[in-house]
Amino acid sequence: MSLNVGVLSIQGDVHENLISAQTAIDELGIDGKVTAVRTPEEISELDGLIIPGGESTTMGQLSLVNGSMKILKEKIENGMPVLGICAGMIMLSNNASDRIVGKTDQPLLDILNIKLERNSFGRQKESFESDISMDSIGIPKFNGVFIRAPSVSEVGSDVEVLSKFNDRIVAVKKGNIIGTAFHPELTEDTALHKYFINLVNTSKN
Ligand code: GLN
Repeated sequence: MSLNVGVLSIQGDVHENLISAQTAIDELGIDGKVTAVRTPEEISELDGLIIPGGESTTMGQLSLVNGSMKILKEKIENGMPVLGICAGMIMLSNNASDRIVGKTDQPLLDILNIKLERNSFGRQKESFESDISMDSIGIPKFNGVFIRAPSVSEVGSDVEVLSKFNDRIVAVKKGNIIGTAFHPELTEDTALHKYFINLVNTSKN
């Protein structure tokens, strides 16, 4: 059966993820399609989901208003693989505050037991790229693109740290859930998207 992978297209870096995920599927020779999803109906049909980077406060408010927050939580808690990128990782968390303004009362999916500092590396103009590694998932070298990125300051005992940059946690995993502070869709390297697609494929079959 063909894989049905979605990119949450409420706000943020949707287009680049559609391309990276479809490229990953094609490179792996897996039968599947990637589409932009927004409504509870579209989300309910998915085998796997990417929550892209963008602005987590806006994404949270809009998904609450359009009714997709509930189904997102249900599907992920029932095992649907999810890749949360930057704002997407913030959405998955249960505890996020901004480096400057502190606690923002934003809607979160409350799925990953991690404490996050939003905008941890500074503003948009302080964006940077750096090599990072995710050895435990077979990706020893990856170009991390950090844009107003969060860092994770604490993880629950059930959450695996996948990567650190300058002693700060920048990628995590819990079962079928992956969160990254950096943007894999903004590099040519599809390794992380391929890892994720394999996870979706395994969990479906
Ligand atoms: N700083 C944004 C937030 O807090 C995330 C930035 C990003 O996704 N590139 O939501």
